[in-house]
Amino acid sequence: MEISLIGRTALITGASLGLGYATAKAFYLAGAKVAILARRDKPLEEAVENIGALPSEGAEITSYVCDVSDPDQINQTHDRVVADLGAVDILVNNAGQSSAMPFLKISDETWQADLDLKLFAAIRLTRLVWPQMLAKGWGRVINVLNTAAKAPPPNSAPTSVTRAAGMALTKVLAGEGAPHNILVNAMLIGSIKSDQIRRLHEARGNERSLQEFVAAAGERLPMGRMGEAEECGNLALFLASDAASYITGCAINMDGGLSKVV
Ligand code: NDP
Repeated sequence: MEISLIGRTALITGASLGLGYATAKAFYLAGAKVAILARRDKPLEEAVENIGALPSEGAEITSYVCDVSDPDQINQTHDRVVADLGAVDILVNNAGQSSAMPFLKISDETWQADLDLKLFAAIRLTRLVWPQMLAKGWGRVINVLNTAAKAPPPNSAPTSVTRAAGMALTKVLAGEGAPHNILVNAMLIGSIKSDQIRRLHEARGNERSLQEFVAAAGERLPMGRMGEAEECGNLALFLASDAASYITGCAINMDGGLSKVV
């Protein structure tokens, strides 16, 4: 099976590092025009430099500094992306970060910040690109969530609650998009090597090397290892392509068997 995104424009949030970066690379190598968004300029520039140096005929990659928690920045960035690369065919709502604590410790501000970053950013961006997908009769929206969306453990709010809402959003949009060939799916992430994991290692002190830290964390997982960002990129590429033409409204565990629920 050959997967091509030639002629498609993709917008990926949180794509300077980690899973978003791996997804941007996979889409670029499949021939897409790719817009990557993040807050910090330098990692974005490095991502464009590294991915843009790879051979891929017709592909383009462009970066945009944008905090997706901010509705004004979303609006402005969306308009620039469309002006630069054309109407958006594929939206990957990926930007996010871990936020889990005991319920009584969560202030209104923390709840709101989590919802703005991981739920409202997806709502606002989807609302902007949806009419473009309707006009083409083709579209893909991929929401990157986590396994807690289906099986929220104690001390996992606010993130698990925000992610469960993201899963409901996925299903609602899948129903509305299906008659128009706009397919909407979610990837429920378990434990994947990324910059987030590097930061966690740093925060816990550097007694063990990052490699040892990752290996020890991996030993506790069903497959005996953490996932690779590229493995997430592969799933996102499949879902974004014509190969996934009859798949919509799914929340797929991308967790090497970690989740207790299907
Ligand atoms: P990383 O921290 O490695 O990368 C996050 C990316 O998002 C960076 O490019 C970062 O750049 C960007 N970003 C963060 N906040 C914002 C913002 N407000 N606006 C725009 N961009 C932003 O994360 P991962 O790759 O690990 O995670 C990707 C997604 O997967 C996230 O939603 C995360 O919650 C989810 N996930 C990951 C898991 C894992 O094991 N890795 C587990 C469960 C869920 P910058 O800081 O410059 O903005």
